[in-house]
Amino acid sequence: MTSDLLLDVRDLKVHFSAKRVGLFGPRRTVHAVDGVSLSITRGATLGLVGESGSGKTTTAQAIMRLVPATSGFIDLDGQSFLELDAAALIQARRKIQMIFQDPYSSLNPRRRAGAIVREPMDRMNIRRAEERDDRVAELFQVVGLRPEQRILFPHQFSGGQRQRIGIARALATEPKLLVCDEPVSALDVAIQAQVLNLMRRLQSQLGLSMLFISHDLGVVRHVCQDIAVMYLGRIVEQADRVSLFRRPLHPYTSALISSVPSARIGSEPRQKRIKLEGDPPSPIDLPPGCSFAGRCPYAVDRCRRDRPELKMLPSGRRVACHLVDADERPPDQARLSTQAG
Ligand code: SF4
Repeated sequence: MTSDLLLDVRDLKVHFSAKRVGLFGPRRTVHAVDGVSLSITRGATLGLVGESGSGKTTTAQAIMRLVPATSGFIDLDGQSFLELDAAALIQARRKIQMIFQDPYSSLNPRRRAGAIVREPMDRMNIRRAEERDDRVAELFQVVGLRPEQRILFPHQFSGGQRQRIGIARALATEPKLLVCDEPVSALDVAIQAQVLNLMRRLQSQLGLSMLFISHDLGVVRHVCQDIAVMYLGRIVEQADRVSLFRRPLHPYTSALISSVPSARIGSEPRQKRIKLEGDPPSPIDLPPGCSFAGRCPYAVDRCRRDRPELKMLPSGRRVACHLVDADERPPDQARLSTQAG
């Protein structure tokens, strides 16, 4: 029987060695991804959001096995993905394809658009060779390009059209999961909406699952049913889109939402807005306790001492904050009621 779960990632860590300070300084480790667990069911879309440097792209690259995981477990469609040897990995990659951030650099400028889209089918021996050109023409139509544009080179397309070529290339292997890394951040706002609408349409028509990475909550809200928020290599909150925007529980999520005017529509008016001061601490020298404590207006002594685990709440949401209680109130409301009591 096929499980509903397509991707299951548990306690994924990606640590790098950092340069020593001075000749005899201690060895240091960058905790780029520091214990991420997430899952995606078939046909669902999970957004992964956070500031630059939060580890979301490294998480995606580790899931794709483009960077080595230090430890953890990844199950993709019933296969233990991290344990596959090179030959098995090539076949398994049919199921998981990536759409890259930059439609300018991710396409080979010397190849025609049709050859770029056909290439994964040739490399993975998908369909009979004589059928592949017809499939390329079909894929061009699926993503809103004209089949006769197959003979053009990437520089003859606009940015939005190039991203459509990237999407067609990803679809060529008939994947079950698309990993989209900031797929519209390099595009003009008007073009972003067109590409996002295309992705939503493809998701519903083809039943695709997506891991959608973005620093922009407004973009994620447009595409994803569930959203996980990352801060300094860890997920600090995960919820369905409606609950997350209506009532963010983690102070970092509140701050992110309050920084995007369009994202505030539909959020609770009582939800206190937080302006983030300062930068995240270095992922090299992680402070003890909650990594958000240095920027959090609600931090108490315990926050600087003990690291909050990502706990499951009765509603199924997950949050890593000592002050979010079982009644699922954000720290400002929980603290107010404690003071009133
Ligand atoms: Fe703020 Fe403490 Fe919650 Fe961290 S654990 S988000 S510092 S209240």
